[in-house]
Amino acid sequence: MPQQPEVIGRFAPSPTGPLHLGSLYAALGSFLEARSQQGRWLLRIDDLDIPRNVKGADSLILTTLDRFGLHWDGAVMYQSQNSDSYQQLLRQLEQQALLYPCICSRKILGDQLIYPGTCRHLASIPDQASALRIKTLPIDIGFDDSLQGAQSSNLADQHGDFILKRKDGIIAYQFAVVVDDYLQQVNHVVRGVDLLEVTPRQIYLQQALGLATPRYSHLPIIADKHGNKLSKQTKAQAVDLTNPQQTLFHLLQLLKQNPPAELAFLAVDQQLAWATKHWQAAHIADIQTISLTIDVTK
Ligand code: GLU
Repeated sequence: MPQQPEVIGRFAPSPTGPLHLGSLYAALGSFLEARSQQGRWLLRIDDLDIPRNVKGADSLILTTLDRFGLHWDGAVMYQSQNSDSYQQLLRQLEQQALLYPCICSRKILGDQLIYPGTCRHLASIPDQASALRIKTLPIDIGFDDSLQGAQSSNLADQHGDFILKRKDGIIAYQFAVVVDDYLQQVNHVVRGVDLLEVTPRQIYLQQALGLATPRYSHLPIIADKHGNKLSKQTKAQAVDLTNPQQTLFHLLQLLKQNPPAELAFLAVDQQLAWATKHWQAAHIADIQTISLTIDVTK
């Protein structure tokens, strides 16, 4: 029988603040998915968006994961180490005549959701700060999300040409994530459902670059009691590090894993051993939002 390739999963937080319960939930889901298949689980710090980085947030994230027993394999990758690869793969797309410089400002574009292709037809490269956009095609990009089912989107009609390198020179998330996952040989991406909508753009880039498309599983996101997604924007509180057992147990409940009550009193490593052995991703299939029932933040 041919051997299945080893599962390689990852968690890729941005160092814009401490982890909140929603991001720890995604970390735990991707950890359990990889570990339950005897796979590797990698950690990447998405630190490209320099203006949003918060000093010390990366080490706080590492400490938090450690405190919860979420131990990663190998060295932590920082996106900022990957500049040469981004440049190299941008050149590859340039040689395929897929990129063009764009000088449109947010003010010009207003609240248009689909880029109208204004700069696609500029004859010469403008002598001013410009972004780099990739041309999209009116074709459907589909994929089968292991939790959310069949997905499809027509990039040209639903999104338009999108930015790979920003005007300020920073590599855009959509492009960076594709290159990073390729560099880390990630073959199973598990992350929040808020990123489901952007996945076809990432698959389009993988196809243009001739890279393999990983398997995708988009986990539900956690909402507070007002129905808002826990996020830095909604001022979600940092995860409380004083009682990781209780928080981990609650997260396993939010992942609908039905942990037995006595597990709540065990150390995090023991809870994780139980959860890895009994992991049932199907319990959270087709769910987009899970409401927080108990306040475990401080
Ligand atoms: N760094 C991204 C974030 O914190 C996640 C990237 C990903 O999982 O694809 O939202």
